[in-house]
Amino acid sequence: MPVYLDNAATTKPCDEAVSALNRCLTTIYGNPSSLHIMGLDAEKEILAARRQIGDAIGTEYINIFFTSGATESNNLAIFGTVNANKRRGNKIITTDIEHQSVHSPLSYLEENGYDIVRIRTVDGQIDEDELIDAVDDRTILVSAMLVNNESGSIQPIGKVFRTLKRRYPQLITHCDAVQAFCKIPMRASALNADLISISAHKIHGVKGVGALYIKKGVRILPMIHGGGQESGLRPGTESVPLIAAFGEAVRIGSEKIDENYDHVSKLSSYAKAELQKLDDISINMFHEHSPYIMNFSVKGIRSEIMLHFLEEKGIFVSSGSACAKGKKSRVLEAFGIEDSAIDSAIRISFSKYNTMNDIDKLISGIKDGQGRLLRS
Ligand code: PMP
Repeated sequence: MPVYLDNAATTKPCDEAVSALNRCLTTIYGNPSSLHIMGLDAEKEILAARRQIGDAIGTEYINIFFTSGATESNNLAIFGTVNANKRRGNKIITTDIEHQSVHSPLSYLEENGYDIVRIRTVDGQIDEDELIDAVDDRTILVSAMLVNNESGSIQPIGKVFRTLKRRYPQLITHCDAVQAFCKIPMRASALNADLISISAHKIHGVKGVGALYIKKGVRILPMIHGGGQESGLRPGTESVPLIAAFGEAVRIGSEKIDENYDHVSKLSSYAKAELQKLDDISINMFHEHSPYIMNFSVKGIRSEIMLHFLEEKGIFVSSGSACAKGKKSRVLEAFGIEDSAIDSAIRISFSKYNTMNDIDKLISGIKDGQGRLLRS
């Protein structure tokens, strides 16, 4: 059995998601837009999943729009807002720790004349005052993540967005909540977000499906044009099997959110305590923190070398964000972590399937790695 500690990159689909997937692949294969009973059955599956997701974040199902994943949700949130607000302004505020799927679209807009302001992070937290002060009447969008995917730090999004919405009711607030959804309690109303991005494969669903929550009354424009699916905002025949599996993963994930949180918290505290017993380890962690993600550096051993050493023992970790393969992490740099520590940073991320035994194997693997790799 592999020791899989890369759950922030993706998770193992849960049994319930796999059985929903199989059921839809084999029997519910009608097109949800077809008017006959096979179409209606497929449409029912989508409605059930939409309801599950709506319930999980405390909103009506009609505010949930399916996409191909959070990368698309983030792009739709950004370009959809920009295209709907061309006359109102061209300024967008974001942070310097965003995922590439927010960072890159905003860089593209910057190259095309938009004024993009990236707020700094101090001691693991975005500078709230700097963010609030950066917003003005020309600002159309603020996009900020809730849980950072490389460090696990939790950002004070609900509080910041509340202040901003009071001062600038027209402003659109977007939150990439991929690493928070079904992991830490999260309600759309408490986040004060107009738009929220989530993804299925981070919560034991299947890759290739995600969703964007759009608050009632908030208008964004589609990026692609076609049929009327997803209220015309995201046309294209829906992937019923992936959506149904997403719904099941959300049902199980939200039912067990507290139980899983407690389990993962125990694993995380144990891992931290055991790592701190080893020499030459620094934990790259801040105050407000999700127990699902931990980042640490093993002095003198480059991340990739340690990653492959552990891999040979059947232990799977990440050297940072899987999406930033081989590149020095701009996010860890923004968190103020020294270059040498970034070079040797390892991210471990947990799920309900991990055990204390997994942590013991990891610790013994790292200890072994320090003995062998440092010597060579
Ligand atoms: N945002 C964050 C914070 C993420 O961790 C990820 C996945 N690495 C994404 C967005 C992109 O999600 P997806 O893989 O569903 O496109």
